[in-house]
Amino acid sequence: MTIKINLNGTIDNDAFISVLDHGFLFGDSVYEVVSTIDGQVVFLAEHLRRLRQSAAALNLVIPYSDTKFGEEIHRTLKSAGNTESYVRIIVTRGVGELDLDPTSCTSPNVIILAKEAVIYPQENYDKGIHLALVSVKRNLKESLNPELKTGNYLNNVLAKMEANRTGAADALMLNSSGYLTECTTSNIFFVKDGRIFTPSLDCGILEGITREKILRLARENGFLVEEGEWPPEALEQAEEAFITGTVKKIMPVTLLNSRPVGNGKPGPTTKKLMRLYEDFLKRVLE
Ligand code: PMP
Repeated sequence: MTIKINLNGTIDNDAFISVLDHGFLFGDSVYEVVSTIDGQVVFLAEHLRRLRQSAAALNLVIPYSDTKFGEEIHRTLKSAGNTESYVRIIVTRGVGELDLDPTSCTSPNVIILAKEAVIYPQENYDKGIHLALVSVKRNLKESLNPELKTGNYLNNVLAKMEANRTGAADALMLNSSGYLTECTTSNIFFVKDGRIFTPSLDCGILEGITREKILRLARENGFLVEEGEWPPEALEQAEEAFITGTVKKIMPVTLLNSRPVGNGKPGPTTKKLMRLYEDFLKRVLE
């Protein structure tokens, strides 16, 4: 695996970040993950927009223009030389005093990591994965709003650890009102009576770029889609479920807390959306 690290415009695999960077000390940073198809970065503009929205909410100034990001990503990908890539873009608050106040941090660090694409086992797509509904709740919207993609992912780390202990592939979290939110790095959808359901943004979720594309594709293809507040029982009684994310795309969920979802196999709506999304990706890259 070839991994390349671009720190503030210099590609250097021995690059280091100071332990006094508030990104390290407090998770005071923002990030995005993008992937390539046929060597092209997919939906970069959308990811950069979300990076800027997350940063703006933290009053973190991003020193690169979108053009500069594009150039630096391209240079890093070229230097790594992988066929398909996983790219992580991170902007940290930078070095400052040891206390929480970010005003002493005057120089944000911009890191671009490029490595070989992350490819999930084909079995995950053919047979579906096991999700655990965990006891760890998703951050309140009023505390660290899940709409912000920050370097503070401890809420998700704790949920993932709980899911791993049960043998599930990932965790599904509820919010403090008991409604479904999302998984640790993906959004959740379920299907009942031919309708597609997904938690609304009000529930406290990341507005996934894949989620938004799937919602649009589903509606354009005549599916009824509802965003709302759904209790876990709605998912337990669903016929199908799937999760979405930049790297995973659409992955069927066939077990929830060790019980089959529907008949325990990826369902027709999920499979149709998987096909539609693959076709859509081909079209946008043409
Ligand atoms: N929720 C969380 C918490 C995530 O980290 C991700 C991955 N970025 C997603 C959902 C899916 O978002 P996207 O489709 O933009 O990758």
